[in-house]
Amino acid sequence: MSATRIGIDLGGTKIEASALRPDGSESGRLRVATPRGDYQASLRSVVSLVEELTGGQPAVVGCGIPGAISPATQLVKNANSTWLIGRAFDRDLAKGLGRPLRVANDANCLIQSEAHDGAAGGAALAFGVILGTGVGGGLAWRGQALVGCHAIAGEWGHNPLPWPTDSEQPGEACYCGKFGCIETWLSGPGMARDHERTSGDERDAAAIVAGADQGDPACTATLERYVDRLARALATVINVVDPDVIVLGGGLSKVARLYEAVPGRLGRYVFSDHIATPIVPPRHGDASGVRGAALLWSPQEASEALARGQA
Ligand SMILES: [Zn+2]
Repeated sequence: MSATRIGIDLGGTKIEASALRPDGSESGRLRVATPRGDYQASLRSVVSLVEELTGGQPAVVGCGIPGAISPATQLVKNANSTWLIGRAFDRDLAKGLGRPLRVANDANCLIQSEAHDGAAGGAALAFGVILGTGVGGGLAWRGQALVGCHAIAGEWGHNPLPWPTDSEQPGEACYCGKFGCIETWLSGPGMARDHERTSGDERDAAAIVAGADQGDPACTATLERYVDRLARALATVINVVDPDVIVLGGGLSKVARLYEAVPGRLGRYVFSDHIATPIVPPRHGDASGVRGAALLWSPQEASEALARGQA
């Protein structure tokens, strides 16, 4: 049986779905806005995207979430989309789908996709970052995402911003209960709040980036602060695991200036006489996370799961 694999990327802003053929090429993609704050509606959205893409035909499903299923409780933890926290998401979704399902962290899906045949292809150790509604991270070793015994390998977003200035302390309260988390500075909403605090100008991250491109001084200064904070945050990752490549994903990974400016800043913070770590955009672009979710199943595993389902 040729098995279709459906990938879902359940983000804080949008839910994306992609169907992969057995050869890995994409046969369809859909996107809807996330019903923020509504768990049941989030489940229903995922189910209807899957049904639309499959047309009722057999398929396995992989789903990336901004969080993790706790190995201790089997419930969602660490989700910036806080309405998922404490839910039996994998079981609830599997019930709604009636299809074989695997769930993984969204940054792990990103780096799985990029290490498989993308911007981190061939790298021994790769770090993937999501800079979006939240901030996540994932590590892949020789093409395989690492999960870790608490399912938090690579999660850097809730460490404190390193080398904080006086004005950056204690930082904002984070939903996780701490102050000054990397996520509160480097997420899209975090950039927007930093811009508003500093300039009094209220606009979202995309508008700040557009303003900087047009030479707006306040927007340029906000982006400059963002670059330095991202360099500091990545430097601590390099100092601990020294990845061969860093791939940026999420909405802010489209900001070209990051790839030009951040590498030059790393030297201030990394414990090394020279730094050559490539910082690159995802080869599969916006689709990388959803693709990585579909790749939670190999073609053979997908076929076997569907054969079992029909037996
Ligand atoms: Zn936090």
